[in-house]
Amino acid sequence: MYSLLKELFPICRSITGDGVRESLRIINKRIPLRITEVPSGTRCFDWIVPDEWDISSASITDPRGRKIADFADSNLHVVNYSEPFSGTLELHELMPHLHSIPSQPDVIPYRTTYYTRQWGFCLRHRDLLKLKKGRYKVEIRSSLKPGSLTFADAVIPGRTKKEIIISSYLCHPSLANDSISGVAVATHLYKHMKARKDNHYSYRFIFVPETIGSIAYLKMHKAHFLKNVYGGFVLTCLGDSGPFNYKKTRQGDHALDRICENVLKHSGHPYRIREFWLPGSDERQYSSPGFNIPVGSLMRSVYAEFKEYHTSADNLNFVKESHLEGTLEMYKSVLEAVESDFHYVNLNPFCELHLTKHGLYDNPLKKDDPMYIRKILTLLNFSDGQHSLCEIADRLDAPILELAELARILEQKKLVRKT
Ligand code: ZN
Repeated sequence: MYSLLKELFPICRSITGDGVRESLRIINKRIPLRITEVPSGTRCFDWIVPDEWDISSASITDPRGRKIADFADSNLHVVNYSEPFSGTLELHELMPHLHSIPSQPDVIPYRTTYYTRQWGFCLRHRDLLKLKKGRYKVEIRSSLKPGSLTFADAVIPGRTKKEIIISSYLCHPSLANDSISGVAVATHLYKHMKARKDNHYSYRFIFVPETIGSIAYLKMHKAHFLKNVYGGFVLTCLGDSGPFNYKKTRQGDHALDRICENVLKHSGHPYRIREFWLPGSDERQYSSPGFNIPVGSLMRSVYAEFKEYHTSADNLNFVKESHLEGTLEMYKSVLEAVESDFHYVNLNPFCELHLTKHGLYDNPLKKDDPMYIRKILTLLNFSDGQHSLCEIADRLDAPILELAELARILEQKKLVRKT
């Protein structure tokens, strides 16, 4: 998984342009994508797909001929979506175009200007402080012209048409945790769910530029979303060393929220559950009131809360392979739980079952689990079609995946059935 992150990291992405296409080509080598181009000028609800931005080089040269900011060193040096510019400016004319973070003098900030035509550069504050009076040569070789916005998806059909969406975004340039950690985990989660036989839900993996990309995607698939999408997750900020944070769905009490909390609680890892808030990532669009799709986000450190966020410090040293792998495992458990969270009906609802008769009393599972009898009786009792498996697991303070095993045994013995 880390190799994918390393391959994607150097590319200068934006909400449109060849950086997104190149990134999708790399992902497409690993999983089969359907790639869609949406022309500039396309109206998508209250938004219009902007002109396409591409860039080949950009730099500022100081009065002594030294480059003080060069796109070739870091694509963060250029304000993303800067219009083309070539000229020589006095320092006081240049200063309004320069951005730095005084409280973090050693990092290059990440800035964008998608919808306002201007240009700018981002510098380490310590370098900005060294600038002397004089004339500076500025060169930005970018283009802003009608083209298209690019996004991609990949669908794994399940037994039902009801879909779980797994959405990640790839519009950030060389930033590792914010944006492409989600893309890397999503790519591997696709492989896992594809290999898993007999999925109940269909899975739709969505790779879009953040905000305008998900808005364009929803515009194009509006009827499908309203009819078939059950819920989903936005994947981002998955590779740092922080504890898990689960941002709940807009509904706040959806089955997906219950499942995530159950899986996290019994994982042994530190975690925090957070109510839905705005802004955030693309859950803002999926959960806008017109769509109202329950979309949660299981992250590590939360965007905008870690100091490396939107700076050059969010790099390949900040994201570790072991953290990415740990998050992938957590998402696999969550989807396994989603695939297990059925409502069951006890087919012998009058009085308790005689467990011995059905080989359930002296079951080998009983030896390993002092709670076994309580679990099996509770499961049978609450298998009334009204309680989901996760609700029953929570009642027992037990992992849903453990209870799913018992439910499978009962189902094989034809003692319960799924509603
Ligand atoms: Zn971001």
